Amino acid sequence: MKNKILVVKKISLKLTLVYAFVFSLVIITLNGSVLYGVRYFLTKQAVRQVSDTSRYISTRIEELERKNVNLKNEDLLQEINPREAVYVKITDSEGKMISISPRWNKDFSFQNSSEKVLKIEKQEKHLVYKSNSIKINNKLFVLTVVKDMEYEYHFLKLLLIMVAISNVLGIIIAVLSGMFVSKKMLTPIDKITKTAQSVSIQGLNKRIEVNAADDELSRLARTFNEMIERLQKSFESQNKFVSDASHELRTPISVIQGYINLLDRWGKEDKEVLQKAINIIKNETANMTNLIEKLLFLARGDNNSLKLEKEIFDLNTLIDEVVKESSVIAPKLNIASERNDKIIIYADFRLIKQALRALVDNSIKYTQEEGEIKINSYRRLGEAEITIEDSGIGISEEEIPNLFNRFYRVDKARSKKTGGSGLGLAIVKHIIDRHCGKICIESDFGKGTKVTINLPAKV
Ligand code: ATP
Ligand code: MG
Repeated sequence: MKNKILVVKKISLKLTLVYAFVFSLVIITLNGSVLYGVRYFLTKQAVRQVSDTSRYISTRIEELERKNVNLKNEDLLQEINPREAVYVKITDSEGKMISISPRWNKDFSFQNSSEKVLKIEKQEKHLVYKSNSIKINNKLFVLTVVKDMEYEYHFLKLLLIMVAISNVLGIIIAVLSGMFVSKKMLTPIDKITKTAQSVSIQGLNKRIEVNAADDELSRLARTFNEMIERLQKSFESQNKFVSDASHELRTPISVIQGYINLLDRWGKEDKEVLQKAINIIKNETANMTNLIEKLLFLARGDNNSLKLEKEIFDLNTLIDEVVKESSVIAPKLNIASERNDKIIIYADFRLIKQALRALVDNSIKYTQEEGEIKINSYRRLGEAEITIEDSGIGISEEEIPNLFNRFYRVDKARSKKTGGSGLGLAIVKHIIDRHCGKICIESDFGKGTKVTINLPAKV
């Protein structure tokens, strides 16, 4: 029991881990790409800002130079918003300062980058800059525009922290909800396991509760219930078979025992009693042997050890044989075949003969003297049809469905006289089923019975 629960728990743990892993992978990838995208966008914006500022100041220097205005007296940086962290330095060709932003960072030196915007990333500083030379009226100026991305990186850092917190929270929620969902989903399996454990030979009437949803687990539960149902039915019928068989065997054994006791006390000297006892014991032993043979036949059929020895033969020779033999057994009855088509079949000769004899045997038993029994055969489309018809006592309609049940006899008292065990028709049905044939009984109570057998013909 512990083992099974452990397996279920392991499955739920596995499901949770896989679920959490996939979920974490998705949110980490998603958040990572958002962070990367924001950084890329901010850098691109900074680069554009540097280029725009550089272009604007170059144009302004050019304008003022053409008007021969002294640049040192002009505020070239007036258009630059001090909040944007963009710093500018303008020098002449000899390196003399013309204009510089008040918060210019002296720690860095910038190489001439002509038209390109370059990046510097050191001492936790992220700078984007452009440093180029401008030639106007044969004068050379060096213009450097720097954008400090401190604010943007601060924002990125904050974003990273928020994303990390939401990732951790998301993973924790994913693990908890995964655990909850998988546990809830696997509870029915636990129930199935528990019911399966409590089902035993004594408790085959237990069933698993099936919920309304048509999912895999409810299908499993339904299949399990159907299997137990079949097991229970077969177990009950086996039980009934065994108890009926024992009951049937008990009667002849008690008769034999009774006569042996009788002989023991008084019969040894009395020749008449002795002979009577011997006759009865002989008769009962023959009945018992007959019954045991029938039981063995059915048991072999049940465990599939009854082998068919199929051969090709002509059905009308078999019917002729059965008619002849039956006429010898019951000379007072009119047993005949009115129509006997020549049909070749592929079947077990011995078993088919056994089935026909059991049916004719019934007709003989339940037909009064001078009655008639007809055994006919007809060739039908791909089939052989055999009918055994008698003018006997018949069977009432409501009894017909039970006739193939083992040990079923219509009138127990009457059968006792005729000596039937109620196994004949069960054996016939088994033989016909094994030959993939059909059997049907029709009867008119008081007038007679007709049994029809259809067997596949060899074409
Ligand atoms: P067994 O064949 O094992 O010696 P049985 O003849 O009693 O015993 P089945 O052949 O299985 O058993 O028949 C079952 C019952 O069906 C019989 O007891 C009998 O009551 C009824 N039955 C069968 N065939 C006929 C028939 N031709 N006419 C009237 N009743 C019949
Ligand atoms: Mg019979």
